[in-house]
Amino acid sequence: AKDHVSAATTARQAPAPHFVLVPLAAQGHIIPLVDLALLLADRGARASVVAAPLNVARLGGVAERAARAGLPLDFVELPFPPGVPDEWQSADLLPENSQLLPFSFAQRELAGPFDAYVRALAPRPSCIVSDWCSPWTAGVARSLGIPRVFFHGPSCLFSLCDLLAANHGLHDRIAAGGDDEKHALALPGMPVPVVVTKATAPGFYTHPSCKQLRDEAMEAMRTADGVVVNTFLDAEAEFLARYQAELGKPVWAVGPLSLCNRDAAAMASRGNTAAAAAHQQRITAWLDAQAAGSVVYVSFGSVARKLPKQLFEVGHGLEDSGAPFLWVVKEAEAAMPEVERWLEALEARTAGRGLVVRGWAPQLAVLTHRAVGGFVTHCGWNSLLEAITYGVPVVTWPHFMDQFLNERLAVDVLWIGVPVGVTAPVFVMDDEAVLVGRGDVARAVAALMGGGQEADERRRKVREYGQKAHRAMEKGGSSYEHLTRLVQSFTQQGEVKQH
Ligand code: UDP
Repeated sequence: AKDHVSAATTARQAPAPHFVLVPLAAQGHIIPLVDLALLLADRGARASVVAAPLNVARLGGVAERAARAGLPLDFVELPFPPGVPDEWQSADLLPENSQLLPFSFAQRELAGPFDAYVRALAPRPSCIVSDWCSPWTAGVARSLGIPRVFFHGPSCLFSLCDLLAANHGLHDRIAAGGDDEKHALALPGMPVPVVVTKATAPGFYTHPSCKQLRDEAMEAMRTADGVVVNTFLDAEAEFLARYQAELGKPVWAVGPLSLCNRDAAAMASRGNTAAAAAHQQRITAWLDAQAAGSVVYVSFGSVARKLPKQLFEVGHGLEDSGAPFLWVVKEAEAAMPEVERWLEALEARTAGRGLVVRGWAPQLAVLTHRAVGGFVTHCGWNSLLEAITYGVPVVTWPHFMDQFLNERLAVDVLWIGVPVGVTAPVFVMDDEAVLVGRGDVARAVAALMGGGQEADERRRKVREYGQKAHRAMEKGGSSYEHLTRLVQSFTQQGEVKQH
């Protein structure tokens, strides 16, 4: 019953709860947890986001806006452990993606500085929100007796598949199997049929060196006081219900978190203020000149990198599709001399119809622009959910981790996606494989952007989900109410501690 005290009563009787949020040092993790922190602060809770100095610097714009709005939100620099290379402060800065695994293991060294920071807080925080890829936070929370919730970043469909695979001892069987249909395993207990192979299995966990990370993450999930997910009831109700039942603890679905960015400045600067601002004007001016719904936006998130051969297939495919396109090529990709030369030639051939952005794009500003009518995405959950939220249908091109199962949600459950047809992962190691040819890119983009009953139906459906997503975040909506309950749960813990 205490769980349902009104907000007014809570405000009178108990001090505002203090949430300390600990994202993994990667944009796909920092962005949603900063959004969550903003929402918590907007509800009167105190929120502190702990990150490496470079990430705190990148978040300068968010910090300034929060301060101007009087929100109780602060960003805390955690000293980066000596001996860990400076570029390892964020995954997108790794010189080689092959460093991702040692980078992940090195993050555990933050446990010491984090422990020292939390110990020095008086009073102690009400709750630690630990990222699904920062399981080392569990030990700190346990040793200090601080409640902890697990922030599970992907779609709930993925999170449920992963948990079911663990509960039925399937991870090892999947890892021992093959990539082909013959080795496909159906996940037991799913509300909709989901079949996985070693290639498309839940997580990156079939890679032997990842087993330890998987086990630590699973343990951190099982021992948490509850789980926060970035999704909403109207998109994933059946997966949420089953996930909560299987976990046996509260699951708060508080998304889409991106909707906390309400104005143009907030949207434009999300993730990396300076980098996005550098491109903002040029992108907006270009989009303003395009017809409504005509442009396909192409971006593969913050981590996945392609080698020249695969990049060229993307470029040719976009050129052949006939659609106006806005393509984000990462700095590390464009830095390869043969790529830069090739991009310049492509830009000359497609002048007026194509725009190539090198580096970081203001993705929310792009997705909310009236000219954008489609998105070729790697199905990172933030990107896919952003597409759903702003009513943009997708071409799905999963690369690794949770992305193959996020794709299933888009294609088989929500019916808002055209698969590019990839069935094997590129592990994030600058993969030599050219998995998708220009013909597949052109076919999928033309199907997405073209007319016809199926394309219209996809557009109708995704717009409808977008409206539902907005309603979920408004007062009285499901995500709004879940966030209320999350805050109240830990306000109550504050009261208990005081007595
Ligand atoms: N993003 C962005 N600009 C870019 C690339 C990515 O703003 O040029 C944002 C995007 O909006 C999303 C996040 O970075 O919020 C990427 O997260 P996602 O889960 O899609 O993929 P990941 O980077 O984790 O693979």
